[in-house]
Amino acid sequence: MPLSFDPDAIPLPTSHFVDGAYLPAEGVLPMRRPSDARDYAACPVADADLIDHAVHAAKSALKTSGWASRRPRERTNAMHRWADLIEAEAETLARLEAVSSTRPIGQLIQGDVAVTAEQIRFFAEFADKEGSDLVPTGEEGLGMVMSEPYGVVGAITPWNFPLSMAGWKLGPALAAGNAIVLKPSEMTPFSTLYVAELAVRAGIPAGLINIVLGDGPTTGQAITAHPEISKVSFTGSTAAGSAIMANIARTGVKPMTLELGGKSPQIVFADADLPLAADAIANSILGNAGQACVAGSRVIVENAVLEPLILALKANMASIRPGPTWDAASTYSPIISERQLNRIDGITRAAVDAGAECLTGGHRLDRKGYFYAPTLLSGVAATSPAVTEEIFGPVLTVQSFHDEDEALALADHPTYGLAAGLFTRDLSRAIRVTRKLQAGTVWVNRYSRSRDHILPTGGYKHSGIGKDLGREAYHANRKSKSVLINL
Ligand code: NAD
Repeated sequence: MPLSFDPDAIPLPTSHFVDGAYLPAEGVLPMRRPSDARDYAACPVADADLIDHAVHAAKSALKTSGWASRRPRERTNAMHRWADLIEAEAETLARLEAVSSTRPIGQLIQGDVAVTAEQIRFFAEFADKEGSDLVPTGEEGLGMVMSEPYGVVGAITPWNFPLSMAGWKLGPALAAGNAIVLKPSEMTPFSTLYVAELAVRAGIPAGLINIVLGDGPTTGQAITAHPEISKVSFTGSTAAGSAIMANIARTGVKPMTLELGGKSPQIVFADADLPLAADAIANSILGNAGQACVAGSRVIVENAVLEPLILALKANMASIRPGPTWDAASTYSPIISERQLNRIDGITRAAVDAGAECLTGGHRLDRKGYFYAPTLLSGVAATSPAVTEEIFGPVLTVQSFHDEDEALALADHPTYGLAAGLFTRDLSRAIRVTRKLQAGTVWVNRYSRSRDHILPTGGYKHSGIGKDLGREAYHANRKSKSVLINL
C-alpha cells in the first residue's frame, strides 16, 4: 500500500473509549487540520460524571482481572502482544496520527509508531524484574520496602507527539500493575484511542486503559481532581502544569509527574565538528517545525566560528520539504493551529522591530495550511521574548560568546531547564560544562533523543517534576510501603 493517503477517506474514532468500548458522544470542539486548515471533525468533552464512570470501570477491571496480583510475567507477555499489534497496525496508526497532527506520515512509520511499540516492550520487561527490597535492620527485625501499584492513575498528554506521549504514560502505568484514565490532547486524540483498542485486542483486560476526550478546564481538571485517581502524570506546557498543581492542591494531595516546557540552549565551541553541529542544531529546530519540548531553540556559539556556523545553518534551513502530513514526500511539518502560527510570527516580528537581524525566514509559507518558514535571528537582546519564551516553532536565535563562563551564563535560563546541548572535541570541557548546565538532559556532540529508553527524561526548574522513561518512570507508577517484622 502506498504511504500517502486521502485524509477525507479514513474513518476516525471520535468518542471516549471506556471499559473496552466506544461510548456515544457528541462532538463539541471543532477540529481543524494543520496541513490544509480544514474543519473536519469535532471532539467531545468528558465531564466529571464521565470521568467518574471511567475511574469506576478502571477499578472494577483491576479487581476482576487481578492485573496487579497475577504472576507479573503475564503482564509482560500481554504487553509484548500489544506491542506486536502496534507494529502490525503501524500504517493505520500513522494515518490516524497524520490526519490531525503535525507529524508527516513517513516520519511516523519510521519514528513515532516504532518507538511507541519499543517503549511498551521496554516497560513490559520491568514487571517481573523490579520488586520489593529486603533492607538491613537490627537483627531483632526483618525490614523490607514493599513496592505496590497505585491503583488508578490519571494521565494527560499534549498534541505534539501524541503516540509516543501515550507510550510514555501507558507503558509504565500498565507494567507497574495500574489501570489508567488518559486524556489525549483535544486536537490529536485518534491514535491514542486506537492504541487503547489494540491493547484490548491483545488481551489486556478491558477497562484497564480508558481514554477520555476533552479540553483541559473540564476533562483535564476532572481527572486531576478525582479522589480515586491516586497519581497524575502530565506532559504539556508549564502554565498548564502549574494549573494542575494548584488544582491538585485545592482538592487533596497526590503525587504527580510533570513534564513541561523548555527553552533549551545549544553551545558550540570553536573546536567543534561544525558540519555535525550544524546538522544536529538544524534538525532539532526543524523537526516537527520546532514543536518539541526539547527543541534546541537558542544557539550560543563561540565568536571564532559564528560566521561559518550561520552559513551552515542557513544552508540546512533552505533544504526543507514542506507538505501535507498525509503526503509521503513531506518532511517539514505545519504548525498546529493558526493561533500558534500568529504567535510565532508575532514574537519574531517583535524581535526584528527591536533590532534583531532576521537571517532567513521570518514569515509564514505561501501555501495552504499553517506553515512557517525556518527562521534564524541574530543580534537578539537577551531579554527579548524570542530568547526567553518557549516559541514552539521553527525559530532559532543565535548569540555569541568569548569564553566558557559567558557561554554558561547565556545558556542558563531563569525558569526553564529541560535540555541542553554542547559541541566540542575537548573531552574535559565537555564534562566540565555538562556538570554546570542546569538541565534535566544534556547531549554532547548530538542533539536528539536516541532509542535508549533507559535514559529518563524530565526537567530542572519550571520544566518539570519527576521523569518519564527510564527506571524512574516505572517506579513513579508504584508506591512503597516500609515493613518491619519483629522477630
Ligand atoms: P498544553 O499544556 O496546552 O496542553 C497539554 C494537555 O493538557 C492537553 O491535553 C490539554 O487539554 C491539557 N490541559 C490544559 N490545561 C489543563 C488544565 N488546567 N488541567 C488539566 N489538563 C489541562 O500543551 P500543548 O500545547 O498540548 O503541548 C505543548 C507543550 O507541551 C509545550 O510547552 C511543550 O514543551 C510541552 N511538552 C513537554 C514535554 C516534556 O517531555 N517535557 C513533551 C512534549 C510537550
